[in-house]
Amino acid sequence: MSIFSRVMALMAFELTDDHQKIWEEAYTFSKEVVEPVIGEYEEACRYPLKIFREMGRRGWLGFNIPEEYGGSERDTISYVMLIEALTEGSSSASVGLIVDTHCLASETVRLFGNEYLKEKYLPKLANAELVGGFAITEANAGSNVTNIRATAIKDGDEYVLNGEKSIVVGGEVADLLVASFRVVSDDGNDKITAFLVDTRNPGVEREPVDCIGLKACGLAKFRFKDVRVPEENVLGDIGKGIRVALSVLDFGRIGVASVALGITGAALAHAVEYAKKRVQFGQPIIKFQGLRWLLADLRVEFDAAKLLTLRAAYLRDKGVRYTAEAAMAKLYATELAMRATIKAIQVYGYHGYLKSSPLGRLMNDAKGLEMAEGTSEIQRIVIAREFLGD
Ligand SMILES: Cc1cc2nc3c(=O)[nH]c(=O)nc-3n(C[C@H](O)[C@H](O)[C@H](O)COP(=O)(O)OP(=O)(O)OC[C@H]3O[C@@H](n4cnc5c(N)ncnc54)[C@H](O)[C@@H]3O)c2cc1C
Repeated sequence: MSIFSRVMALMAFELTDDHQKIWEEAYTFSKEVVEPVIGEYEEACRYPLKIFREMGRRGWLGFNIPEEYGGSERDTISYVMLIEALTEGSSSASVGLIVDTHCLASETVRLFGNEYLKEKYLPKLANAELVGGFAITEANAGSNVTNIRATAIKDGDEYVLNGEKSIVVGGEVADLLVASFRVVSDDGNDKITAFLVDTRNPGVEREPVDCIGLKACGLAKFRFKDVRVPEENVLGDIGKGIRVALSVLDFGRIGVASVALGITGAALAHAVEYAKKRVQFGQPIIKFQGLRWLLADLRVEFDAAKLLTLRAAYLRDKGVRYTAEAAMAKLYATELAMRATIKAIQVYGYHGYLKSSPLGRLMNDAKGLEMAEGTSEIQRIVIAREFLGD
């Protein structure tokens, strides 16, 4: 049997009216509520907490949470539609990435938290009363998460946390962090473990991280100094922190791919609108074949990226392993977002290079997505491993 037959057999999905409705509601909200103000948040490098709370009120932060824990429980295709539309409508990736990272944190609690943690926190994460963050990366632990140096030492029925986390989406305001620490053991075999950390505990310090893009998603670094967390805040088993992180990152990567789709969609829409209006050599530039082909190629790639993303979402909804498919979607969609924004700026000429154009922001946002939740190189490693089976 061909190695591709599994893929072909699993592509029988269709979009429902509900999926379309979610896209339209999120797009309208984003265009009318987010787009007019997001530039101010970007300029000030501030997290748009008011928008976040409103999204919680609408049930958009609880798609991955069952109703019994206060969630709005939708399929993953709905999640793709939501995040794509939020990004495209605002011409900014920040709000889309905020949703994805917050849901990554709540997803970890849903899958690996005990009943006490689920009951205590999931309803508040779903309705946006609490902001969640996901903290793995450290100065010397990026792609290689086994290098984590932050420590957790058992003291009675608590763990004492020390160390740093370098860059966390939503960190500026996060109330809860899903964070990985090295549980120190007497035999010298430290075990990387995931914890749920309440950032309002004494000893947690944070400071903003100023990046070239994604400026309105509250990027921050954390320092933990003798922070005490109860032992029931361990997520999954002691020593299984990397497995915990990798299994939820499959879901997160579908979200990052969806943000990237929104960037490409916005870049294409801007480019088409501009090219219809801009006149050179006596005609709108959209009449020039060179630009028509550029736009046609981007349209093909956009559809390819969207199909890859929907396929990964569909497989997750079917309960089928989707690690490779999520990595393919993330890799292709984020690299496309980078290409698409560069080409859209070319269509605009110098107008696209002006700071007032939304395209520069989209390009800088796209670059960040090629790294967040695993770089393109790491996605290729995952795909090759899954594909070649070695
Ligand atoms: C916008 C943004 C948001 C982020 N948000 C978060 C967050 O919320 N929480 C969090 O924990 N982290 C976050 N990160 C960190 C992100 O997960 C890391 O940037 C990523 O895992 C890569 O780590 P690194 O940047 O240290 O690069 P490194 O691991 O140092 O890699 C440097 C380069 O080497 C390449 N490389 C590394 N290993 C290999 C290999 N085996 N084969 C081939 N090439 C390799 C990489 O692909 C990269 O090009 C965020 C990053 C960005 C840019």
